[in-house]
Amino acid sequence: MTSQPVFPYTPRLRIAEIRLHKLAAPFSEPFGWSLNWATQRNHTVVEVITDGGLTGWGDGGSYDELRRHPELVLGRSPFEMEAIFEELRTPPYLQSRSGPQWSGGLDVALWDIAGQALGVPVSQLLGRRYRDRVEPYCTALYRKNWPNLEEGLAEEARNWKALGFRTLKMKVGFGPDTDVSIVAAVRAAIGDMGLAVDANCAYDAGTALALGRRLEAFNLRWWEEPLLADDLVGYARLKSQLAIPLAGGETLPLDQLITNYIQPRLVDILQPEIEYVGLTGGRRLSHLCWLNHLRLIPHNWGTAIRTAAILHWMSTVPPVSEAIAAPPPLFELDCTENPIRNAIVRHPFLVDPTDGCIPVPTGPGLGIEVIPEAVREFSVETITLR
Ligand SMILES: [Mg+2]
Repeated sequence: MTSQPVFPYTPRLRIAEIRLHKLAAPFSEPFGWSLNWATQRNHTVVEVITDGGLTGWGDGGSYDELRRHPELVLGRSPFEMEAIFEELRTPPYLQSRSGPQWSGGLDVALWDIAGQALGVPVSQLLGRRYRDRVEPYCTALYRKNWPNLEEGLAEEARNWKALGFRTLKMKVGFGPDTDVSIVAAVRAAIGDMGLAVDANCAYDAGTALALGRRLEAFNLRWWEEPLLADDLVGYARLKSQLAIPLAGGETLPLDQLITNYIQPRLVDILQPEIEYVGLTGGRRLSHLCWLNHLRLIPHNWGTAIRTAAILHWMSTVPPVSEAIAAPPPLFELDCTENPIRNAIVRHPFLVDPTDGCIPVPTGPGLGIEVIPEAVREFSVETITLR
């Protein structure tokens, strides 16, 4: 392991301590999707403290290997984020490139520190900035214990539209007849605004193809995860036969996204999860998606810290097309009940109804202020590595 600064101008910062904050909060009412019902939210928030006094924040990741071998990261420069990202996912400590550890939250925290150390926003370090405002799509419209599912979803959809969102995503995967019925109800409720559906891998290719033919009538922006993520033959069949853009990739590690999804253009829209790919991997995906003519719309099931990282990333994702009427670059804004999401930052991200966008933070690093007392309030365990 090198402990030399990677660049001569690297500030003399060393990673002195890592705190993994395990947070949890219950919901006021459960909600469901094709696989499960949820009653609470859990997050792992990563706090990286340097000996120079700067602290970086990230969100998400699995750090069992790092807990056994903290020397992989402690004492190194936060500017070695690229090397640290690689070493945490490759031998000698792991046996596979898609091994059990993913370190997206730690990676984000190192980029946050790097930006703060240089006095520039993370977006400026990631690459060319194409935009300073990014449009979120609203993820909501899960299944709840409404007396009438169609009416409940229709009313909820109208509320999200009124808040200024231009695109909504709803859950399907409850059986083809139910799916067609609820999509029709939501489409009727919201008029011609953007609507996408997400089946969370509910179907086999034959069922999905038959259902997809029925859903083609509803002018959907995309169909997300109709099949299991590793049914590559099935995705290829749907993509060649359905007139709905296909989307997926939220559960996959970096290299599988590249070899199985981007290179064969398995889907129309890649949805990487920053918890797995970090900003370091995300930057590679930006370029590879652009080279392969895929749209990139990040998955986002985190706190406002993760949303901040995604905003910086999205400001640097090259447009597939620069046509005036090309589909806008989007990212996911999870709007389901989550007591933790916005409570741990001073200024939560809210959609601006005048253009449906959220501005990319302009302050140094991630450009957000995390509230440590709020993190402690939701904490069920804190693991300190030093
Ligand atoms: Mg999804």
